[in-house]
Amino acid sequence: MAGKLYLVATPIGNLEDITLRALKVLKEVDIIAAEDTRHTLGLLNHFEISKPLISYYKETERVKSKVLIEKLLEGKNIAVVSDAGTPGISDPGEEIVKSAIENNIEIIPIPGACAFVNALIASGLSAKEFCFIGFLSANQKEKREKLEEIKYETRTIILYEAPHKLKNTLEEILNTLGDRKIVLARELTKIHEEFIRENVSKVLSKIEEIKGEFVILIEGSLKSKKDIEQSKINEKTLEEHYEFYKNQGLDKKEIIKRIAKDRNTSKNEIYQYFLNY
Ligand code: SAM
Repeated sequence: MAGKLYLVATPIGNLEDITLRALKVLKEVDIIAAEDTRHTLGLLNHFEISKPLISYYKETERVKSKVLIEKLLEGKNIAVVSDAGTPGISDPGEEIVKSAIENNIEIIPIPGACAFVNALIASGLSAKEFCFIGFLSANQKEKREKLEEIKYETRTIILYEAPHKLKNTLEEILNTLGDRKIVLARELTKIHEEFIRENVSKVLSKIEEIKGEFVILIEGSLKSKKDIEQSKINEKTLEEHYEFYKNQGLDKKEIIKRIAKDRNTSKNEIYQYFLNY
């Protein structure tokens, strides 16, 4: 019988944030696949757990997934852990899950710490709907393109970022999204845990003092792309509005219907206006 694949969340700073179930699973599995075996060894030693470790990190995810699947098919139970938090969230995990599904292997998530969830719930920004982006590309052009893409995102936006890239990322946010309200959730679960709730420009003005690990949360756009397009349409004359839809290849009946809807008025009124158009 095939073994089971456990995805085990580990602490993001404070070692007390490991669940009883996570410890039980780590004690009972045959192998632990870890992003950085030395790092995980520190955690295991702390909890007096001794297990064979296999390294499983982003760059070797595909190859190592095959090895792990073979072991699972031999009947071994395996726990996947990352350096911190929940595996698969901006961390290795996705590949092994896909392969396990293809091989009918049971996958069991073991819940626990996750930086962005805790950053979000204490941020004060809307947690009703949010959009988790994770790390932006290290390539400046791709980074800008992504920020352009989310410019009119109305949900709270969540980013991960490496400490040495914080300044550049905040500058790009300021240039692309404007002086939005942001929250930096810093050093979560650690001694210097802090929430910095300011506009981007203000945070940038004291950037030299900001150290450690952090999650960046950005208030969603107050206007959606649809609102912006709508206000642009409302600035048009009726004739310009007509030409706008005509250029899209629509017939007169459809154009009149759309204009009436856009302007929240009756079709008949628009029809009369364009009677001889
Ligand atoms: N899998 C992890 C999780 O569940 O949150 C995320 C791993 S990702 C490689 C590392 C990033 O998560 C960091 O660059 C930072 O943005 C965020 N992060 C991790 N631990 C954190 C902490 N204690 N405080 C603030 N941010 C943290």
